[in-house]
Amino acid sequence: MNLKKQFPILEQHAHGHPLVYLDNAATTQKPLPVIEAIDRFYREANANVHRASHYLSARSTHAFEEAREEVRHFLNAAGSDEIIWTRGATEALNLVAQSWGRSQLQPGDEILLSAMEHHANIVPWQLVAEQTGALIKVINVTEQGELDLNSFRELLTDKTRILAIAHVSNAIGTVNPVETLAFEAKAKGAVVLLDGAQAVSHASIDVQKLNCDFYVFSGHKVFGPTGIGVLYGKKALLEAMPPWQAGGEMIREVSFKGTTFNELPFKFEAGTPNVSGVIGLREAVRFVRALDMKQVVEHENRLRVRAEEGLKNLPGVTLVGEARHKVSVVSFVVEGIHNQDIGLLLDQQGIAVRTGHHCTMPLMEHLGLSGTVRASFSVYNTLEDVDVFLAALSRILKGELGASQAGEEAKGHS
Ligand code: PMP
Repeated sequence: MNLKKQFPILEQHAHGHPLVYLDNAATTQKPLPVIEAIDRFYREANANVHRASHYLSARSTHAFEEAREEVRHFLNAAGSDEIIWTRGATEALNLVAQSWGRSQLQPGDEILLSAMEHHANIVPWQLVAEQTGALIKVINVTEQGELDLNSFRELLTDKTRILAIAHVSNAIGTVNPVETLAFEAKAKGAVVLLDGAQAVSHASIDVQKLNCDFYVFSGHKVFGPTGIGVLYGKKALLEAMPPWQAGGEMIREVSFKGTTFNELPFKFEAGTPNVSGVIGLREAVRFVRALDMKQVVEHENRLRVRAEEGLKNLPGVTLVGEARHKVSVVSFVVEGIHNQDIGLLLDQQGIAVRTGHHCTMPLMEHLGLSGTVRASFSVYNTLEDVDVFLAALSRILKGELGASQAGEEAKGHS
């Protein structure tokens, strides 16, 4: 699988070395069709959508709604009115917390999260818990970095109103058994939200098979632009939910006596949307749908296993999170060297990784760490990328690449 040629950004050098981009869990790079679609949109079709009866507006509206249909296929949703455009996973999570949560939760109701959630799937629930008197319960994570199913079953009760959980962990790559979790949570009458931000580029998603009520993701983590994301919601739930943000597009009729709201999905899309983002996402989703996901998974697993085996052979390196079912995310710490120092030294060799807490401070605290180094691989990475990364890290550990010098630089950043 060699897709690098389709990603022009990867052709460059960084600090005099060929760029090796291993920060895909933070954001993925964009293939040419996505870049070209956005360029073409602004050259040929730019106009506001759903508003005017002119040629360009009809063209942009058509492309915009075609994109919704493309995403419906991508998630296998029952209808395109179940696909709501948001700015990203974060906004989608806030939408559910504020609209569903504020209208549904009562004092004493329980919100079930896990210890491996991204802050974006914690803080919106903390806000709504304060506003409604609901309580947050947290499912334990094992030392291996897996969800503790005993803890889940203990905490899942008749009081649980919603289970909101990551499909895949961004910090350690664990794939959670979401189908089982959703089945058991729904049997107790809870609503199920899956945070798919880290899953969508690594697996085929079928929201009907998963039987979740909400599924969220960000376009930029699946080869699309930043500033666009998706909330999938089951129609009956979305219809019963009050609007969240208010303005143009989400209304049917406005008067000072009162306002009536538009139908789905527009009820949740106030204001001029990110049209070029939607157009870019349409192309990104087409790119993914044209891939053979089985081959993608095999390729990414090969990269991950090569990285993990290489890391295990390096002195002082400890892998963090060794779940049995993982995507191509490898987190680790190095004895005696701060994760930021490792990140800086790798960067000097042209290798991009992420360091720190990865917006999962509760997980880091749970694991007794302040942060990790995270290398995350995507479809366009190669075994050679993994080898370059391992060789550079090996030289850093041998002190050949100036650990003390980078240590001084890192202090300025902390
Ligand atoms: N959830 C998870 C699991 C994530 O990895 C991220 C992004 N790191 C988010 C939510 C938030 O995504 P965004 O910042 O694109 O809204």
